[in-house]
Amino acid sequence: MSDPVFSRLAIIGVGLIGSSIARAAAEYGAAGDVVLYDASPDVRARATELGLGTIAPTLEAAVAEADCVIVCVPVGAIGAVAAGAVPAMKYGAILTDVGSVKSEAARALHDAGDGRIHVIPGHPIAGTEQSGPEAGFPTLFRGAWHILTPLSGQDEAYQTATDHLAAFWTRLGARVEAMDAARHDRVLAITSHLPHLIAFNIVTTAFDLESVEQGEVVKYSAGGFRDFTRIAASDPVMWRDVFLNNKDAVLECLGRFSEDLAVLQRAIRWGDGDTLIREFTRARSIRKAIIDAGQDSSAVNFGRNAPEPDEPA
Ligand code: NAP
Repeated sequence: MSDPVFSRLAIIGVGLIGSSIARAAAEYGAAGDVVLYDASPDVRARATELGLGTIAPTLEAAVAEADCVIVCVPVGAIGAVAAGAVPAMKYGAILTDVGSVKSEAARALHDAGDGRIHVIPGHPIAGTEQSGPEAGFPTLFRGAWHILTPLSGQDEAYQTATDHLAAFWTRLGARVEAMDAARHDRVLAITSHLPHLIAFNIVTTAFDLESVEQGEVVKYSAGGFRDFTRIAASDPVMWRDVFLNNKDAVLECLGRFSEDLAVLQRAIRWGDGDTLIREFTRARSIRKAIIDAGQDSSAVNFGRNAPEPDEPA
C-alpha cells in the first residue's frame, strides 16, 4: 500500500460521513492516525466501541497535531466548530469540510481562518438516508464525485495543499473536481436539495390526505412512493441547515418547478395528452443521459429490494 496522504487526520462530527471517512481512511491507508471528536458524549462512546480511531476528549485535542481537519457536522454548526478548531491547529494544516451547501460553509470556514492554515471547502456527492456512527461504511465514496471549492486569490502553498486534499479523496475512491461555491450551490439545489424537499412534502401530504387511510398508504406503497419515503427518512437537522443556508438557489428552483408543475396540472385538467407525452418523453431522455454517464444502472428496480410476498416486511 502507498504511504498515507496525511500522517494525522482529525475528523470532527462522527456521523454517517465522518465515520465513513474514518473507515475509508483506514481501509485504503489514506491517513496514518485518525483522531475523532464529536460534541455528543454518547456518539464518542459509540465511536470508541466501533474502533473508528482515537477518540479525543475535546475539539482542541483532536485537531492539535493534525495535518488535515475535516469538519463533518451539520452546515449550521460548521462556523462554530471551525472557530474552535483553528487556534489549536498547527501551522500549514488543512481545514476542510463536507457540508452540502458551499457558499455559507466556505464563508464560515474562511471567517474562522487566521492565515496560518489552508481553508479548502469540499462536499462529497455521496450519502444515504441514515445517520450516526454505525451508519458509515468504507466504500461510500468509491466512484462518487468529491467537489472542492477552493478559495480564490491564494498562493502556491495553498495550491499544494489543495493537491494533497484531492489526493486524499482520490485515495478513498472519489473523483475530485473543483468548482466555484456559488455554482455548486445552484447545481445541488436542483439535483439534491429540491428532490429532498419534494420527498419530505409528498410523504407528509400522503399521510395528511383525508381521502385515503394511512394504513393503505403504507400497505400499497409501490416503488415510486416507497423511494420517496427512503429519501424523506434523511436527518431533519442536516436538511433544515441545507435549506436555510441555500435559500436563494432553492427558492429559484422551487419557483421554476412550480411553474412546470402547473403546466402538467393544466394538461391533466384539459385532457391535453400531447403535452403530457411531450414532457414525459423529455424526462425519459434525461434518465437515459444519467445512465449513459454511469450515474445509475438501467437494471429494473421499481420496488427495489422488496421482500418476496410471503417474506415478513
Ligand atoms: P450525522 O450522521 O447526523 O452526523 C453529524 C454528527 O455531528 C453528529 O454525531 C452530531 O452530534 C455531530 N455534531 C453536531 N454538532 C457538532 C459540534 N458542534 N461539534 C462536534 N460534533 C457535532 O450527519 P451526516 O449525514 O454525517 O452529515 C454531516 C455533514 O455532511 C453535513 O454537513 C451534511 O450536509 C454533509 N453531507 C451529508 C450527506 C448525507 O447523505 N448524509 C452527504 C454529503 C454531505 P449530535 O447528533 O449529537 O448533534
